[in-house]
Amino acid sequence: MTAPTKVQALKNYVGGEWVDSSSENRLDVPNPATGKSLGTVPLSTKEELNRAAETAAEAFRTWRKTPVPKRARILFKYQQLLIEHREELARLITMENGKSYNEALGEVQRGIECVEFAAGAPTLMMGSQLPDIATGIESGMYRYPVGVVGGITPFNFPMMVPCWMFPLAIACGNTFVMKPSERAPLSANRLAELFAEAGLPAGVLNVVHGAHDVVNGILDHPRIKAVSFVGSQPVAEYIYKNASANGKRVQALAGAKNHSIVMPDADLDVAVNNIIGAAFGSAGERCMACSVVVAVGDIADKLVDRLVKASDEIRIGDGLEKEVFLGPVIRDTHKERTLGYIEAGEKEGARLVRDGRKDDLPEDGWFVGPTIFDDVKPDMKIWRDEIFAPVLSVVRAENLDEAIRIANESEFANGACLYTDSAKAVRQFREEMDAGMLGINLGVPAPMAFFPFSGWKDSFYGDLHANGKDGVEFYTRKKMVTARY
Ligand code: NAD
Repeated sequence: MTAPTKVQALKNYVGGEWVDSSSENRLDVPNPATGKSLGTVPLSTKEELNRAAETAAEAFRTWRKTPVPKRARILFKYQQLLIEHREELARLITMENGKSYNEALGEVQRGIECVEFAAGAPTLMMGSQLPDIATGIESGMYRYPVGVVGGITPFNFPMMVPCWMFPLAIACGNTFVMKPSERAPLSANRLAELFAEAGLPAGVLNVVHGAHDVVNGILDHPRIKAVSFVGSQPVAEYIYKNASANGKRVQALAGAKNHSIVMPDADLDVAVNNIIGAAFGSAGERCMACSVVVAVGDIADKLVDRLVKASDEIRIGDGLEKEVFLGPVIRDTHKERTLGYIEAGEKEGARLVRDGRKDDLPEDGWFVGPTIFDDVKPDMKIWRDEIFAPVLSVVRAENLDEAIRIANESEFANGACLYTDSAKAVRQFREEMDAGMLGINLGVPAPMAFFPFSGWKDSFYGDLHANGKDGVEFYTRKKMVTARY
């Protein structure tokens, strides 16, 4: 597979023009599998963000009045273009993020599904009426966009997460300023380019690259009425507090520590395959990654043994190479942090049953092999913190009550999975597990675009989640008209 090698200085996209940032601060964007530069990203200034917000506010004046079916037609065209470019987009994702090409293709597909959902705007934007709320009086609810929306995204899904935001926001009649992750900024530009090719008018989608200054600009700008954020927990909390203090709507999706409970009656083949995929796929850099297994009863020894054996078979390398399953983590600093957690786990007394530091790892890039700790306890740092890397903890529990209690002790509550053949266990898990997205006998229960992405506790700040009807509610406001004629 060939990959473009041209080093590019990324530009911002404002008012339909590709513009150089005036900032002298630029970061290198290396391919995490090789360490070689793919380009540089500007750390744009707050003034540049302000200009983009003003441009988006100007574009809102006409875009909000553009008939909804006309908006939807542009999304249909966009969906078609994304399908035509899916392999190119997947290569780009692999190069900037490091995940395997197959996973990148999966990500492209999930992004396209968001655009498909947004293309249903004429139905999604419908209001409701009651002709007789009193004799001769009717009442109707009409749905309108909120204005300019700001989007701030993480490095781990450079296409799918932006696609949770801007297609639906724009389909609902808003205009958008996106601040992609400075660690994986390339896909965002290609997404904007293809949307323009689909016929999106200038100024409706704007991309401003950068870090804190641009983020703070989004939080402060009075023309930005709503903020969609996806990223780590401390930043999500910061975004939620500051954007809401400034009177904006906020949805802030945060970090995770997802538990998979394996019951003694589980089909071990299913459990092992799915846990390996969920723990080590995308190098564990998924908010729905399985980072803790809770082994119930006497299945634990067999399960750990099978997990270790399956991990030994994992092919590690550049995600663009065929058969590679486990790519690098995003940066050298993230690798160092991960190695720090492995050392901490050993010091805290967890049993290191598979040491990914000892794998035959590529010399270039930032690789960590699949790592598994057994006998992890809920007071350990490796249980508590989101490591966001290919490090899996196994906790042992006597029964389902204890397993659920342990999982519920986590401050995070994005997802949780249960492997079992028992309907009774499934029911108890569904009723008692405090997490927003549950999976039964599968590894990554990420909902499709027409359902909400529904984290709880410290995995989410806000009221209305991303995607589905929640997304439509978030990106619209309602007007009630009550009339007597
Ligand atoms: P991050 O929080 O470091 O960065 C996310 C965004 O916030 C980036 O655009 C970054 O530029 C900006 N940012 C970072 N620090 C900031 C600061 N101090 N002030 C202002 N802005 C700041 O997250 P990441 O490492 O890019 O992504 C991984 C995290 O995202 C993980 O915690 C993962 O669980 C989470 N995530 C959550 C979901 C979900 O749906 N809950 C989905 C994907 C990723």
